[in-house]
Amino acid sequence: MINYQQIEEEALAAVALQSKKLEEAALFNTEKVITAFRNNVVSDFYLKPTTGYAYSDVGRDKLDLIYAEIFKTEAALVRSQFVSGTHALAVALLGNLRAGDELIAVTGTPYDTMQTIIGYPEKTEGSLVDLGIEYKEIPMIGDHVDLDAVKKAVTSKTKMIHIQRSCGYSSMRKTIDVAEIGRICQAAKEANPNVICFVDNCYGEFIEKQEPTEVGADLMAGSLIKNLGGGFAPTGGYIVGRQDLVEKASYRLTAPGLGGEMGATLGDTAREFYQGLFMAPHIVLQAVKTSIFAASVFKSLGYAVKPQPEDPRSDIIQAITLETRKRLCDFCVAIQSNSPVDAHVEPVPSPLPGYQDEIIMAAGTFVQGASIELSADGPCREPFNVFFQGGLTFEHGRLAIMAAAKRVGSRNE
Ligand SMILES: *Cc1c(COP(=O)(O)O)cnc(C)c1O
Repeated sequence: MINYQQIEEEALAAVALQSKKLEEAALFNTEKVITAFRNNVVSDFYLKPTTGYAYSDVGRDKLDLIYAEIFKTEAALVRSQFVSGTHALAVALLGNLRAGDELIAVTGTPYDTMQTIIGYPEKTEGSLVDLGIEYKEIPMIGDHVDLDAVKKAVTSKTKMIHIQRSCGYSSMRKTIDVAEIGRICQAAKEANPNVICFVDNCYGEFIEKQEPTEVGADLMAGSLIKNLGGGFAPTGGYIVGRQDLVEKASYRLTAPGLGGEMGATLGDTAREFYQGLFMAPHIVLQAVKTSIFAASVFKSLGYAVKPQPEDPRSDIIQAITLETRKRLCDFCVAIQSNSPVDAHVEPVPSPLPGYQDEIIMAAGTFVQGASIELSADGPCREPFNVFFQGGLTFEHGRLAIMAAAKRVGSRNE
Protein backbone atom coordinates (compact mmCIF):
# COMPACT_ATOMS: atom_id res chain seq x y z
CA MET A 1 0.00 0.00 0.00
CA ILE A 2 1.26 3.45 -0.89
CA ASN A 3 1.09 5.93 1.95
CA TYR A 4 -0.03 9.03 0.06
CA GLN A 5 -0.37 11.07 3.22
CA GLN A 6 3.28 10.53 4.06
CA ILE A 7 4.32 11.28 0.48
CA GLU A 8 2.38 14.56 0.67
CA GLU A 9 3.97 15.52 4.01
CA GLU A 10 7.44 14.89 2.60
CA ALA A 11 6.64 16.98 -0.46
CA LEU A 12 5.50 19.89 1.71
CA ALA A 13 8.79 19.62 3.61
CA ALA A 14 10.70 19.71 0.30
CA VAL A 15 8.87 22.90 -0.66
CA ALA A 16 9.59 24.44 2.75
CA LEU A 17 13.33 23.76 2.33
CA GLN A 18 13.49 26.07 -0.70
CA SER A 19 10.79 28.55 0.29
CA LYS A 20 13.01 31.13 1.94
CA LYS A 21 15.22 31.64 -1.11
CA LEU A 22 12.29 31.62 -3.54
CA GLU A 23 10.25 34.04 -1.43
CA GLU A 24 13.24 36.39 -1.28
CA ALA A 25 13.40 36.40 -5.08
CA ALA A 26 9.65 37.07 -5.29
CA LEU A 27 10.01 39.98 -2.86
CA PHE A 28 12.99 41.39 -4.76
CA ASN A 29 11.18 41.11 -8.10
CA THR A 30 7.97 42.62 -6.72
CA GLU A 31 10.02 45.59 -5.57
CA LYS A 32 11.58 45.82 -9.03
CA VAL A 33 8.10 45.91 -10.60
CA ILE A 34 6.51 48.47 -8.30
CA THR A 35 9.60 50.66 -8.49
CA ALA A 36 9.34 50.63 -12.28
CA PHE A 37 5.60 51.40 -12.06
CA ARG A 38 6.28 54.32 -9.71
CA ASN A 39 9.23 55.68 -11.72
CA ASN A 40 7.10 55.63 -14.86
CA VAL A 41 4.07 57.20 -13.15
CA VAL A 42 1.42 54.60 -13.95
CA SER A 43 -2.10 55.94 -13.55
CA ASP A 44 -5.60 54.80 -14.44
CA PHE A 45 -5.44 56.72 -17.71
CA TYR A 46 -2.82 54.32 -19.15
CA LEU A 47 -4.92 51.21 -18.60
CA LYS A 48 -7.52 52.16 -21.22
CA PRO A 49 -8.04 50.63 -24.68
CA THR A 50 -7.03 52.23 -27.95
CA THR A 51 -8.31 51.59 -31.48
CA GLY A 52 -7.35 51.86 -35.15
CA TYR A 53 -3.71 52.71 -35.91
CA ALA A 54 -3.21 53.57 -32.24
CA TYR A 55 -0.62 56.28 -32.84
CA SER A 56 0.63 57.56 -29.51
CA ASP A 57 -0.89 54.75 -27.48
CA VAL A 58 0.67 56.06 -24.29
CA GLY A 59 -0.24 53.02 -22.19
CA ARG A 60 1.49 50.73 -24.68
CA ASP A 61 4.58 52.94 -24.88
CA LYS A 62 4.80 53.26 -21.10
CA LEU A 63 4.62 49.49 -20.65
CA ASP A 64 7.60 49.19 -23.02
CA LEU A 65 9.53 51.59 -20.77
CA ILE A 66 8.56 49.60 -17.68
CA TYR A 67 9.72 46.32 -19.20
CA ALA A 68 12.97 47.97 -20.27
CA GLU A 69 13.55 49.21 -16.72
CA ILE A 70 12.79 45.80 -15.18
CA PHE A 71 15.06 43.94 -17.64
CA LYS A 72 17.69 46.71 -17.56
CA THR A 73 17.64 47.05 -21.33
CA GLU A 74 17.60 50.00 -23.71
CA ALA A 75 14.29 49.01 -25.28
CA ALA A 76 11.27 46.72 -25.11
CA LEU A 77 8.39 45.68 -27.34
CA VAL A 78 5.44 44.29 -25.37
CA ARG A 79 2.50 43.54 -27.62
CA SER A 80 -0.77 41.67 -27.78
CA GLN A 81 -0.06 41.31 -31.53
CA PHE A 82 2.43 38.56 -30.76
CA VAL A 83 0.26 35.47 -31.13
CA SER A 84 2.56 33.34 -28.93
CA GLY A 85 6.04 33.03 -27.49
CA THR A 86 7.18 31.31 -30.66
CA HIS A 87 6.01 34.32 -32.65
CA ALA A 88 7.96 36.77 -30.47
CA LEU A 89 11.09 34.62 -30.78
CA ALA A 90 10.61 34.33 -34.55
CA VAL A 91 10.19 38.10 -34.92
CA ALA A 92 13.40 38.70 -32.96
CA LEU A 93 15.34 36.27 -35.17
CA LEU A 94 13.78 37.13 -38.54
CA GLY A 95 14.07 40.85 -37.83
CA ASN A 96 17.78 40.69 -37.11
CA LEU A 97 19.21 38.01 -39.39
CA ARG A 98 19.93 38.45 -43.08
CA ALA A 99 20.96 36.09 -45.89
CA GLY A 100 24.55 34.98 -45.39
CA ASP A 101 24.50 35.57 -41.61
CA GLU A 102 25.41 32.71 -39.32
CA LEU A 103 23.30 31.64 -36.34
CA ILE A 104 24.66 29.14 -33.79
CA ALA A 105 22.42 27.42 -31.23
CA VAL A 106 24.70 26.79 -28.25
CA THR A 107 22.24 24.92 -26.03
CA GLY A 108 21.79 22.07 -28.51
CA THR A 109 18.69 21.40 -30.52
CA PRO A 110 16.15 24.14 -29.78
CA TYR A 111 12.53 23.76 -28.65
CA ASP A 112 10.27 21.98 -31.16
CA THR A 113 8.51 25.05 -32.55
CA MET A 114 11.85 26.85 -32.97
CA GLN A 115 13.07 24.09 -35.30
CA THR A 116 10.31 25.02 -37.73
CA ILE A 117 11.36 28.67 -37.60
CA ILE A 118 15.02 27.89 -38.07
CA GLY A 119 14.24 25.32 -40.76
CA TYR A 120 16.51 22.64 -39.35
CA PRO A 121 16.75 19.64 -39.49
CA GLU A 122 13.93 20.01 -42.03
CA LYS A 123 13.93 23.08 -44.27
CA THR A 124 10.52 24.69 -43.82
CA GLU A 125 8.92 27.38 -45.97
CA GLY A 126 9.90 30.91 -44.92
CA SER A 127 12.32 29.68 -42.26
CA LEU A 128 15.75 31.17 -41.53
CA VAL A 129 17.51 28.47 -43.54
CA ASP A 130 15.05 28.99 -46.41
CA LEU A 131 16.00 32.70 -46.39
CA GLY A 132 19.71 31.90 -46.69
CA ILE A 133 20.84 32.08 -43.08
CA GLU A 134 23.50 29.57 -42.10
CA TYR A 135 22.77 27.53 -39.04
CA LYS A 136 24.81 25.36 -36.67
CA GLU A 137 24.16 23.63 -33.36
CA ILE A 138 26.52 22.91 -30.51
CA PRO A 139 25.28 19.99 -28.38
CA MET A 140 25.37 20.41 -24.63
CA ILE A 141 27.66 18.24 -22.55
CA GLY A 142 25.31 16.75 -19.98
CA ASP A 143 23.59 19.66 -18.28
CA HIS A 144 26.05 22.33 -19.38
CA VAL A 145 27.00 24.35 -22.40
CA ASP A 146 30.29 23.39 -24.04
CA LEU A 147 32.09 26.72 -23.60
CA ASP A 148 35.26 25.60 -25.41
CA ALA A 149 33.20 24.54 -28.41
CA VAL A 150 31.42 27.92 -28.31
CA LYS A 151 34.76 29.78 -28.34
CA LYS A 152 35.92 27.70 -31.31
CA ALA A 153 32.67 27.86 -33.29
CA VAL A 154 32.00 31.58 -32.96
CA THR A 155 33.95 33.51 -35.61
CA SER A 156 33.81 36.96 -37.18
CA LYS A 157 31.08 35.70 -39.50
CA THR A 158 28.81 34.62 -36.62
CA LYS A 159 26.00 37.15 -36.34
CA MET A 160 24.09 35.63 -33.44
CA ILE A 161 24.11 32.86 -30.88
CA HIS A 162 20.88 31.35 -29.62
CA ILE A 163 20.63 30.36 -25.96
CA GLN A 164 17.59 28.49 -24.70
CA ARG A 165 17.28 28.88 -20.94
CA SER A 166 14.57 26.32 -20.27
CA CYS A 167 14.72 22.62 -21.08
CA GLY A 168 11.63 22.66 -23.33
CA TYR A 169 10.73 19.18 -24.52
CA SER A 170 14.36 18.25 -25.09
CA SER A 171 15.38 14.99 -23.40
CA MET A 172 15.78 15.70 -19.74
CA ARG A 173 18.49 18.33 -19.89
CA LYS A 174 18.68 20.79 -17.09
CA THR A 175 17.52 24.34 -17.39
CA ILE A 176 20.54 26.60 -17.35
CA ASP A 177 20.68 29.37 -14.80
CA VAL A 178 21.37 33.06 -15.27
CA ALA A 179 24.99 32.77 -14.10
CA GLU A 180 25.69 30.16 -16.79
CA ILE A 181 24.05 32.35 -19.43
CA GLY A 182 26.52 35.04 -18.34
CA ARG A 183 29.46 32.70 -18.90
CA ILE A 184 28.15 31.72 -22.34
CA CYS A 185 27.77 35.36 -23.41
CA GLN A 186 31.29 36.12 -22.17
CA ALA A 187 32.78 33.16 -24.05
CA ALA A 188 30.97 34.09 -27.27
CA LYS A 189 32.03 37.73 -27.03
CA GLU A 190 35.65 36.78 -26.42
CA ALA A 191 35.53 35.05 -29.78
CA ASN A 192 33.61 37.85 -31.51
CA PRO A 193 32.82 41.06 -29.59
CA ASN A 194 30.07 41.91 -32.10
CA VAL A 195 28.12 38.69 -31.78
CA ILE A 196 24.49 39.14 -30.70
CA CYS A 197 23.63 36.95 -27.71
CA PHE A 198 19.97 36.03 -28.02
CA VAL A 199 18.08 34.29 -25.20
CA ASP A 200 14.84 32.34 -25.34
CA ASN A 201 13.73 33.24 -21.81
CA CYS A 202 10.44 31.30 -21.84
CA TYR A 203 9.46 30.12 -18.34
CA GLY A 204 12.51 31.74 -16.75
CA GLU A 205 11.28 35.22 -15.86
CA PHE A 206 11.29 36.27 -12.19
CA ILE A 207 12.63 32.97 -10.83
CA GLU A 208 15.97 34.48 -9.95
CA LYS A 209 16.82 38.01 -8.87
CA GLN A 210 18.70 38.65 -12.09
CA GLU A 211 17.60 38.23 -15.71
CA PRO A 212 19.82 37.17 -18.65
CA THR A 213 19.88 40.76 -19.97
CA GLU A 214 21.85 41.74 -16.86
CA VAL A 215 24.65 39.30 -17.65
CA GLY A 216 25.34 39.89 -21.33
CA ALA A 217 22.22 38.93 -23.32
CA ASP A 218 21.67 41.54 -26.06
CA LEU A 219 18.21 40.41 -27.12
CA MET A 220 15.62 38.26 -25.37
CA ALA A 221 12.05 37.19 -25.95
CA GLY A 222 9.23 35.25 -24.37
CA SER A 223 5.51 34.70 -23.96
CA LEU A 224 2.96 36.63 -21.92
CA ILE A 225 0.77 33.60 -21.28
CA LYS A 226 3.68 32.22 -19.31
CA ASN A 227 5.46 33.92 -16.39
CA LEU A 228 5.23 37.62 -17.16
CA GLY A 229 1.51 37.72 -17.87
CA GLY A 230 0.93 36.64 -14.29
CA GLY A 231 -2.19 34.71 -15.33
CA PHE A 232 -3.92 37.94 -16.37
CA ALA A 233 -2.57 38.52 -19.89
CA PRO A 234 -5.00 36.97 -22.39
CA THR A 235 -2.37 36.72 -25.17
CA GLY A 236 0.90 38.36 -26.23
CA GLY A 237 4.66 38.29 -26.11
CA TYR A 238 7.65 40.51 -25.42
CA ILE A 239 11.06 41.32 -26.78
CA VAL A 240 13.64 43.27 -24.76
CA GLY A 241 17.20 44.26 -25.51
CA ARG A 242 19.48 46.71 -27.28
CA GLN A 243 17.66 49.58 -28.98
CA ASP A 244 18.82 48.81 -32.52
CA LEU A 245 17.95 45.11 -32.22
CA VAL A 246 14.48 45.66 -30.75
CA GLU A 247 13.81 48.24 -33.45
CA LYS A 248 14.75 45.79 -36.22
CA ALA A 249 12.44 43.23 -34.63
CA SER A 250 9.61 45.78 -34.54
CA TYR A 251 9.86 46.22 -38.34
CA ARG A 252 9.28 42.53 -38.69
CA LEU A 253 6.32 42.49 -36.28
CA THR A 254 4.49 45.23 -38.21
CA ALA A 255 6.21 46.60 -41.32
CA PRO A 256 9.44 48.42 -42.20
CA GLY A 257 8.99 52.04 -41.14
CA LEU A 258 6.00 51.36 -38.91
CA GLY A 259 7.69 49.35 -36.16
CA GLY A 260 6.38 49.66 -32.62
CA GLU A 261 4.58 52.95 -33.15
CA MET A 262 1.33 51.36 -34.24
CA GLY A 263 -0.88 48.57 -32.94
CA ALA A 264 -4.05 48.99 -30.92
CA THR A 265 -4.49 47.79 -27.36
CA LEU A 266 -8.01 46.40 -27.53
CA GLY A 267 -10.53 45.71 -24.81
CA ASP A 268 -9.07 45.26 -21.38
CA THR A 269 -5.61 44.20 -22.54
CA ALA A 270 -3.73 47.19 -21.16
CA ARG A 271 -5.00 46.62 -17.64
CA GLU A 272 -4.41 42.88 -17.95
CA PHE A 273 -0.80 43.38 -19.09
CA TYR A 274 -0.06 45.84 -16.27
CA GLN A 275 -1.86 43.86 -13.59
CA GLY A 276 -0.34 40.61 -14.83
CA LEU A 277 3.16 42.04 -14.62
CA PHE A 278 2.40 43.29 -11.11
CA MET A 279 1.23 39.80 -10.09
CA ALA A 280 3.94 37.87 -11.95
CA PRO A 281 6.61 37.55 -9.20
CA HIS A 282 4.02 36.11 -6.80
CA ILE A 283 2.39 33.84 -9.38
CA VAL A 284 5.79 32.52 -10.47
CA LEU A 285 6.46 31.67 -6.82
CA GLN A 286 3.23 29.65 -6.68
CA ALA A 287 4.24 27.79 -9.82
CA VAL A 288 7.78 27.01 -8.62
CA LYS A 289 6.46 25.72 -5.31
CA THR A 290 4.04 23.48 -7.19
CA SER A 291 6.90 22.13 -9.32
CA ILE A 292 9.02 21.27 -6.28
CA PHE A 293 5.98 19.60 -4.71
CA ALA A 294 5.43 17.53 -7.87
CA ALA A 295 9.12 16.56 -8.03
CA SER A 296 9.04 15.25 -4.50
CA VAL A 297 5.76 13.34 -4.88
CA PHE A 298 6.76 11.57 -8.10
CA LYS A 299 10.26 10.86 -6.87
CA SER A 300 8.69 9.14 -3.86
CA LEU A 301 6.63 7.06 -6.29
CA GLY A 302 9.85 5.85 -7.93
CA TYR A 303 10.01 7.97 -11.10
CA ALA A 304 12.96 9.90 -12.48
CA VAL A 305 12.32 13.61 -12.06
CA LYS A 306 14.19 16.66 -13.28
CA PRO A 307 15.01 18.91 -11.56
CA GLN A 308 15.29 17.06 -8.24
CA PRO A 309 13.15 18.40 -5.37
CA GLU A 310 16.22 19.97 -3.74
CA ASP A 311 17.79 21.39 -6.93
CA PRO A 312 17.95 25.17 -7.34
CA ARG A 313 15.40 26.35 -9.92
CA SER A 314 15.76 28.58 -12.95
CA ASP A 315 12.36 28.01 -14.54
CA ILE A 316 8.91 26.76 -13.54
CA ILE A 317 9.04 23.44 -15.40
CA GLN A 318 9.05 20.01 -13.83
CA ALA A 319 9.83 17.00 -15.98
CA ILE A 320 8.77 13.54 -14.86
CA THR A 321 9.71 10.38 -16.76
CA LEU A 322 6.57 8.24 -16.77
CA GLU A 323 7.96 5.53 -19.10
CA THR A 324 4.66 4.44 -20.65
CA ARG A 325 2.09 6.08 -22.86
CA LYS A 326 -0.66 5.05 -20.48
CA ARG A 327 0.92 6.77 -17.48
CA LEU A 328 1.56 9.92 -19.54
CA CYS A 329 -2.11 9.97 -20.54
CA ASP A 330 -3.28 9.18 -16.99
CA PHE A 331 -1.23 12.06 -15.61
CA CYS A 332 -2.71 14.54 -18.07
CA VAL A 333 -6.24 13.22 -17.54
CA ALA A 334 -5.88 13.72 -13.76
CA ILE A 335 -4.56 17.27 -14.14
CA GLN A 336 -7.35 18.15 -16.57
CA SER A 337 -10.09 16.76 -14.34
CA ASN A 338 -8.73 18.85 -11.47
CA SER A 339 -8.78 22.09 -13.45
CA PRO A 340 -11.22 24.97 -13.00
CA VAL A 341 -12.24 25.03 -16.68
CA ASP A 342 -13.16 22.04 -18.88
CA ALA A 343 -12.66 19.55 -16.08
CA HIS A 344 -15.12 17.23 -17.85
CA VAL A 345 -12.96 17.04 -20.98
CA GLU A 346 -10.60 14.10 -21.52
CA PRO A 347 -7.32 15.03 -23.19
CA VAL A 348 -6.04 12.68 -25.92
CA PRO A 349 -2.76 12.73 -27.90
CA SER A 350 -2.98 14.68 -31.14
CA PRO A 351 -0.82 16.46 -33.74
CA LEU A 352 -0.08 20.15 -33.10
CA PRO A 353 1.25 22.73 -35.60
CA GLY A 354 5.02 23.14 -35.19
CA TYR A 355 5.53 19.89 -33.28
CA GLN A 356 6.89 16.65 -34.70
CA ASP A 357 5.31 14.01 -32.45
CA GLU A 358 1.77 13.77 -31.19
CA ILE A 359 1.30 15.83 -28.04
CA ILE A 360 -1.00 15.23 -25.13
CA MET A 361 -1.91 18.31 -23.21
CA ALA A 362 -3.88 19.11 -20.10
CA ALA A 363 -4.82 22.75 -19.86
CA GLY A 364 -8.06 23.47 -18.07
CA THR A 365 -7.13 27.10 -18.10
CA PHE A 366 -8.96 30.42 -18.14
CA VAL A 367 -6.68 31.61 -20.95
CA GLN A 368 -6.47 28.96 -23.67
CA GLY A 369 -3.18 27.08 -23.44
CA ALA A 370 -1.74 29.42 -20.82
CA SER A 371 1.05 27.48 -19.19
CA ILE A 372 1.48 29.82 -16.22
CA GLU A 373 -1.80 28.20 -15.23
CA LEU A 374 -1.69 24.60 -14.08
CA SER A 375 -0.92 22.55 -17.16
CA ALA A 376 0.87 19.44 -18.32
CA ASP A 377 2.00 18.30 -21.69
CA GLY A 378 4.30 15.82 -23.28
CA PRO A 379 5.23 14.43 -26.66
CA CYS A 380 4.09 10.84 -27.18
CA ARG A 381 7.54 9.40 -27.59
CA GLU A 382 10.00 7.47 -25.44
CA PRO A 383 10.63 7.86 -22.54
CA PHE A 384 7.21 9.47 -22.10
CA ASN A 385 8.29 12.53 -20.19
CA VAL A 386 5.55 14.76 -18.93
CA PHE A 387 6.35 18.45 -18.58
CA PHE A 388 4.35 19.98 -15.84
CA GLN A 389 4.15 23.68 -15.13
CA GLY A 390 2.20 26.50 -13.64
CA GLY A 391 -0.42 26.85 -11.01
CA LEU A 392 -1.91 30.22 -10.13
CA THR A 393 -2.16 29.07 -6.53
CA PHE A 394 -0.04 26.51 -4.71
CA GLU A 395 -3.19 25.11 -3.10
CA HIS A 396 -4.59 24.19 -6.51
CA GLY A 397 -1.25 22.74 -7.62
CA ARG A 398 -1.04 20.59 -4.53
CA LEU A 399 -4.54 19.17 -4.98
CA ALA A 400 -4.04 18.40 -8.67
CA ILE A 401 -0.63 16.76 -8.17
CA MET A 402 -1.94 14.50 -5.43
CA ALA A 403 -4.81 13.49 -7.71
CA ALA A 404 -2.34 12.74 -10.52
CA ALA A 405 -0.14 10.74 -8.13
CA LYS A 406 -3.08 8.58 -7.11
CA ARG A 407 -4.15 7.99 -10.71
CA VAL A 408 -0.67 7.18 -12.04
CA GLY A 409 0.43 5.16 -9.03
CA SER A 410 3.86 3.87 -8.14
CA ARG A 411 6.47 2.86 -10.70
CA ASN A 412 6.82 -0.56 -9.14
CA GLU A 413 3.17 -1.48 -9.22
C1 LIG B 1 6.98 27.84 -24.42
C2 LIG B 1 8.28 27.93 -25.08
C3 LIG B 1 8.42 28.58 -26.30
C4 LIG B 1 7.28 29.25 -27.02
O1 LIG B 1 6.13 28.51 -27.02
P1 LIG B 1 4.70 29.14 -27.34
O2 LIG B 1 3.79 28.04 -27.00
O3 LIG B 1 4.72 29.50 -28.76
O4 LIG B 1 4.52 30.33 -26.48
C5 LIG B 1 9.68 28.65 -26.85
N1 LIG B 1 10.75 28.11 -26.23
C6 LIG B 1 10.64 27.48 -25.05
C7 LIG B 1 11.86 26.91 -24.41
C8 LIG B 1 9.41 27.37 -24.44
O5 LIG B 1 9.32 26.76 -23.26
